[in-house]
Amino acid sequence: MCGIVGLFGHADASTLATLGLHALQHRGQESAGVVAADGNRLQRAVAMGLVADVLGGDASSRLPGRAAIGHVRYSTSGDSGPANAQPLLLDHHRGPIALAHNGNLVDAAAARRQLENDGSIFQTTSDSEVVLHLMARSKSPDVVDALIEALREVSGAYSLLVLVPGRMIAARDPHGFRPLSIGRKDGAWVVASETCAFDLIGATFVRDLERGEVAVFDVGGMHTFKPFAVQRRSACAFEHVYFARPDSRVFGEPVQAVRKRLGAALAREAPADADMVVPVPDSGVYAAMGYAAEAGLPFEMGLVRNHYVGRTFIQPTQHVRNFGVRVKLNPVSELMVGQRVVLVDDSIVRGTTSRKIVQLCREAGAREVHMRISSPPTKSPCFYGIDTPDRRELIAAEHDAMAIRRHVGADSLSYLSLDGLLGALGAEADERCTACWTEDYPVPLPRDEAAQLRLFAKSRR
Ligand code: AMP
Repeated sequence: MCGIVGLFGHADASTLATLGLHALQHRGQESAGVVAADGNRLQRAVAMGLVADVLGGDASSRLPGRAAIGHVRYSTSGDSGPANAQPLLLDHHRGPIALAHNGNLVDAAAARRQLENDGSIFQTTSDSEVVLHLMARSKSPDVVDALIEALREVSGAYSLLVLVPGRMIAARDPHGFRPLSIGRKDGAWVVASETCAFDLIGATFVRDLERGEVAVFDVGGMHTFKPFAVQRRSACAFEHVYFARPDSRVFGEPVQAVRKRLGAALAREAPADADMVVPVPDSGVYAAMGYAAEAGLPFEMGLVRNHYVGRTFIQPTQHVRNFGVRVKLNPVSELMVGQRVVLVDDSIVRGTTSRKIVQLCREAGAREVHMRISSPPTKSPCFYGIDTPDRRELIAAEHDAMAIRRHVGADSLSYLSLDGLLGALGAEADERCTACWTEDYPVPLPRDEAAQLRLFAKSRR
C-alpha cells in the first residue's frame, strides 16, 4: 500500500508533487517524501510521518528543479523505519538515481540473497532497493535499458517511478496489479497512482499507463515501450472495493460508481428485512448507498467517524483500549434506537473491529443488526502490495460465515459472491487479481516464501 506521483517539466515540480501526495495520503501514512532533480543534482526530503508533517511549508524552495517524484508509504514489505522511507536516492556509476515504488516484488528475497553473495551492500530492508542494485550491476550504459533489464529479473507487483537528471521513467508490471495514470499540467507531464491527485493539482487525465508499459519523459516528450512478455491481466480488485479513493478513476472505472454497484449487487443477493442502511464509515459508504437504493431502504449515517485519530493512536492500558473503537466511531443513537439496521462494510479482515461496531450499534439501541459485506470473505494474504495480516489472523481463513456471524454478534451476515463482485466490476475473472478471496495467485510465490517473509519481516502495527 503506497502512493506515487511524479512531475516532469514544471517549474513548481516538487510543490505539485507534494500536493499530489496529499491526495494520495490514504495509500500510506507511515512515511512521505519527495526527490527533485535540479540540473545534475537530485535532492531529497523524506521522513516518517504524514505529508503535511514531512513536507509542510514551502517544499519547492528547498527542493528546486523542473522534475520531482514523491511517495507515501504503508509498509507491506520491510520494516516501517526511516531507512525504508521512499523515494530511495543513491548514486551509481550512471549518476544519481531515485526510485518510488508501489507494490510488492515476490522474489525480492532470493534476488537480494544473490546480490549480497556477489558483494552488494543493502541500506534498507525494502524490496524496492533490489531494483536499484540490479540496475547498478547492468552493463547497459543507458539507464532505461538498465531499468528494463532489472525489471526482467524480478516478478510481482510494481507501479514505479525513477528519476535521473534529465529524465523521469514510469513502469507498470506486466500483470498490471497496481494502478498508474498519466496526466498533463501546464504542458508538463504528471504521473500518479490515482487520478484524484490530478484533480487536486488541476492536471488533465491523459490515459492509464498500460500493464507492462515503460514510459520515459524527457525534453523531447513521452516515449513508451512494451519490453516485457505479455502476462495475464491481474488488476487488483481490492483497489475498487476498499483501497482507492472514491473520487478516483482506477483501471478506467470510477471508484464510487463501482462501489455503488457492489452494494446494489449485495442487496440483490442478500436482502434483509430491515428499516435502514448504515455504512461503516468511510470504507462502507458508497456500497451502503448502492445497497439502500437497490433495496428501497433509507440510507442513514448512523455512525460518525472522527477523522483526526490516525493509525498511530496509542492505547497504553486495557482500560483505555476499551474505548478504542469509540475514539474512532460513535453511533447516533437517535437514529438507531428500536431500528432494524443493515450495517454495510467493504470487508472483514480479523473481525475484531466489526465485532465492536456491531456491539456499538446494539448499545445505541438497534433492535437488529444485519451485517452485509461488499466483497467475498478475505481468506488469504496479499503478496502484491495490500497490507493484510498472516493467514492465521484472517478470520475467514478458518471460519465459515455462520461462525463469523456469531463472532461479530450480528443477527445475520452475508458476503457478496465472487460472481457478484466481478459483475459489479464489469470484469472477467481472468482480468482481475482476486487472490485474497480465491487464493488464485497470478504470480506464484517462490518456494522459499517463508524465508522471503522472514527476510522482509515487518514490524506489525
Ligand atoms: P475487522 O473487523 O477488524 O476485520 O476490520 C474490518 C475493517 O478493516 C473494514 O472496515 C475494512 O474496511 C478495513 N480494512 C480492510 N482491509 C484493510 C487493510 N488492508 N488495512 C486496514 N484496514 C482494512
